[in-house]
Amino acid sequence: MGVPHVFAAAFGVEVNAFSPLATGRHDFAALCHHQAGALGDDVPLIAAPLVPLRRLQAAGQISLSEGMVAAAQPGGLLTRATYEALAGELLADLASAGNVDLVVLGLHGAMSAHGLPDCDGDLIMRVRQLIGPRARIAVLFDSHGTLSAAMVEAADLLICYKEYPHTDIADCAERLIDLAMAILRGEITPAKAVHDCRMISVYHTMHGPMQALVADLRARETAGEALDISIVHGFVWADTPDTSARILVTTNGDAASARRIAREIGAQLRALAGTTHAPLVPMQAAVARAAAVSTPPLLLADTADNPGGGAPSDATWLLEALADAGVGNLAAGIIWDPVATELALAAGPRARLALRVGGKACSLSGRPLDLEVDVLATSDQASVPFSGREWPMGKAAGLHVPALDWYLVVSTLRTQCFAPEAFSRLGIDPAARRVLLVKSSQHFYAAFRAIAADILIVDAPGVLDHDPGRLPYRHITRPIWPLDP
Ligand SMILES: [Zn+2]
Repeated sequence: MGVPHVFAAAFGVEVNAFSPLATGRHDFAALCHHQAGALGDDVPLIAAPLVPLRRLQAAGQISLSEGMVAAAQPGGLLTRATYEALAGELLADLASAGNVDLVVLGLHGAMSAHGLPDCDGDLIMRVRQLIGPRARIAVLFDSHGTLSAAMVEAADLLICYKEYPHTDIADCAERLIDLAMAILRGEITPAKAVHDCRMISVYHTMHGPMQALVADLRARETAGEALDISIVHGFVWADTPDTSARILVTTNGDAASARRIAREIGAQLRALAGTTHAPLVPMQAAVARAAAVSTPPLLLADTADNPGGGAPSDATWLLEALADAGVGNLAAGIIWDPVATELALAAGPRARLALRVGGKACSLSGRPLDLEVDVLATSDQASVPFSGREWPMGKAAGLHVPALDWYLVVSTLRTQCFAPEAFSRLGIDPAARRVLLVKSSQHFYAAFRAIAADILIVDAPGVLDHDPGRLPYRHITRPIWPLDP
């Protein structure tokens, strides 16, 4: 073979089946949609394999054709038309690339559309149909993806991120491309095995037993037991027949070893059931702590309304409880409320106006808050930094509520409250507050721990409820822990 021809593209979104927000074309346009060849040097995380691939191309080791790169803020089910349009764009890019030896896809893995629960499996199968049986397919996806039989069957190589928070995406992309190139050279022949743990949960890998488990699988990889061992966490808020934690092991041609290792890692994960995430603090207990803060600021993470998991980010349950308890000198954000934001922008800085904030997207958002506010600052194009990038907030306003001594940030785009800049760029000093409320589960931590004296992950109502027993699953395969013993 001469220089291999590689086609690479990326398409993904994390879908929360319980979110009322249909994900459409405009959600990709708002975050990330680059047509074939239009992506510059700033490679989004979903397209991480492009970094090593571009390096190989520059070194003359491959010929690279780049296709579409599209990602959206997590939300509810994709409209079927959106999925078909974007999948069609990616497949057309692939078709016009001509004969390829390798297709590399950056996916999320938990993408579902109306009437199509396994978009990722569907997409990989359609790629397979287009390129035939001989060319190879290598896929990098998020550990919150849902691993389906279709994905495993249609792809030669599948690797998901090992760490949550996802600090190892670039490393996993390098590993994927190293292995894919070795496959093309005929040096290795992947043999895959899957073990289904029949459990749904959240798995933090930066401390405790999950950290040890990830260290164990890395040691097994280093020792040559397997080419890759991926713990596919699954996504608690997906609701598909494949939603479950699954272990995917890839060895060099040894299917029996792959099955044994998958079983062993699966047993280790099952043994950790219930211990893999930080305990949540009940809402009323968190409010009591906020009312009695001695060392400010206390940070409350409203994890059930995290837009990073597809929630609307406009829930008011926790805010209402804090108001009832008389908790002042509080800053909260980023509240998704396009109407309130537009009204604040129209009034402009230093204006005082009556504003109805939050509680609009669905019944799980709670009641709207009717507040008299002073506009502190506004922006037509706000953003918040995270992981070396700026994440768009759309239009945004910083507000002060004199009656409660609250500071609020509202925006027209749903974005996680990743960093204190979400407040400080809109005229609010977060470090000077007694209580901070952030709409985020996990990714706020790195930037906020520098200013927060204490952090509570709060168990409030919302679309991203952390108790699977309270979620209205309809399609998940039973039995599964913790819904069934
Ligand atoms: Zn994830």
